[in-house]
Amino acid sequence: MKKVKKILERNILIEELTHKYYLDGIEVNKPSVSKLIDLLPHHVFDTSFAETPEGQQILDLAIARGKHLHKIAENFINEKVTKNCCEIKSHFEMKEWLLWVLNKISNDYPESEGWEIISELSMIGKEYVGTLDLLLINTKLKKYVIGDIKTTKLLAKNKEALQVVLYNDLLKERFKQVKFSGFELQSFFVINCNLINKQIYLIDEETLLKANTEKEEILAILKSLKI
Ligand SMILES: [Zn+2]
Repeated sequence: MKKVKKILERNILIEELTHKYYLDGIEVNKPSVSKLIDLLPHHVFDTSFAETPEGQQILDLAIARGKHLHKIAENFINEKVTKNCCEIKSHFEMKEWLLWVLNKISNDYPESEGWEIISELSMIGKEYVGTLDLLLINTKLKKYVIGDIKTTKLLAKNKEALQVVLYNDLLKERFKQVKFSGFELQSFFVINCNLINKQIYLIDEETLLKANTEKEEILAILKSLKI
């Protein structure tokens, strides 16, 4: 009974394996939020450590960890099921914690008060595309909260803020497309799900201001690339 999810996902499809976006069945060729962030050199994730076989293995494991935990969250939110992902012990431990967090979120934003929790929402905007990890939305209160799941050891709070700001713009575009009006953003939060670093935090105003400036920089770069 996910009403808002149905509306917001209408006409949009993402192919999980290739990360290709489709609008009404037609492939959309626009950069993703992560590609956009890479336009700012100081935010590019340095993967030079992966030039050695050991480094490559670390990177592969990190990518798998991210995929598995995002899938666990998606399964839990969409189907209320909790499956195991693989044999890696640390994934099990992180899974337990992540599910505890998601459960807490479902209690804090109850369906009975009009909240709907949406996982992996793909959106297509004028300039770029992206998939939001978590959206908590309330059509009665006209409020929403954006959540992101991170599985990396490193906390890159500025980069994280930039990402959610870009997602929020995309979501606002989507609201217009489906004729949702008057919705107000309540907050941005991040679930940091890593063995070394398990925490939930809200993105503060100062970091958001900085992220907005960086967003403008990115949009300017994007414009200049088109000319
Ligand atoms: Zn796993």
